[in-house]
Amino acid sequence: QVLLNTRLLPEFDWYLMVEQSNHPLEKVLFITLLKNLSIGIVVSVLFLLLLWLTIGGYQRRLEQMATKDKLTGVMNRQAFEHHFLRMRSNMLQQGKLASLTIIDIDYFKPINDLHGHSIGDLAIVHIARLIQTSLRYSDGMCRWGGDEFLVLMPECNGEQAVARMRTLSEHIAQSPLISGSKTIPITISCGIAETQGNEELRSLVERADIALYQAKRQGRNCVVKMDE
Ligand code: GH3
Ligand code: MG
Repeated sequence: QVLLNTRLLPEFDWYLMVEQSNHPLEKVLFITLLKNLSIGIVVSVLFLLLLWLTIGGYQRRLEQMATKDKLTGVMNRQAFEHHFLRMRSNMLQQGKLASLTIIDIDYFKPINDLHGHSIGDLAIVHIARLIQTSLRYSDGMCRWGGDEFLVLMPECNGEQAVARMRTLSEHIAQSPLISGSKTIPITISCGIAETQGNEELRSLVERADIALYQAKRQGRNCVVKMDE
């Protein structure tokens, strides 16, 4: 029972007390309300969690599409440009140098023409994997376009870069692409340039490209460093 009101009636010197019994269903209603509220809260939290996961998933996919090369999954040009800027400022702060290599697959057009574009794609992925496995944690790699890759090697001078790329190109020459019954030998040519202070990526790539051109002229399957 709940006492609702008390009042003195002076004429009779009586107290008027108004009391009201709890309705037996009130407790049931209150419990139902609490249950509904908790269900509402749980459903809202689940909905928000699902929304967060979905938006996060889309965001990651968008990020991946914007920064990764679709075929090989390595960095694309845009992402590599950002990577280069970050690495350059680190190198400048620490007074260290880095080397950049352009890697180009030799006679790639004939691979496409002879075996078809999809085998050509497999060859690009095959070479990307072999390059990736040769990288150190601090190295950065991107698909620069077509059959060309860039590798930025911090704290690595030109001579060290040449030695590393020679090891890589020998390994690639000994690791043909095997697809079904086909065994397709692949070689690469590399052009290397050392970073020069605050040099822009465009100019560094141009210098490495000149070295690559020389490597192609020397008969391919070789590594050439740009004379500084
Ligand atoms: P070189 O030894 O002088 O490099 O000769 P090359 O035949 O490799 O010539 P180049 O590097 O100019 O050839 C690049 C070719 O790569 C041209 C283009 O048809 C092909 N290509 C570019 N992108 C793709 C791709 O995503 N998939 C495939 N299968 N082929 C591609
Ligand atoms: Mg090529």
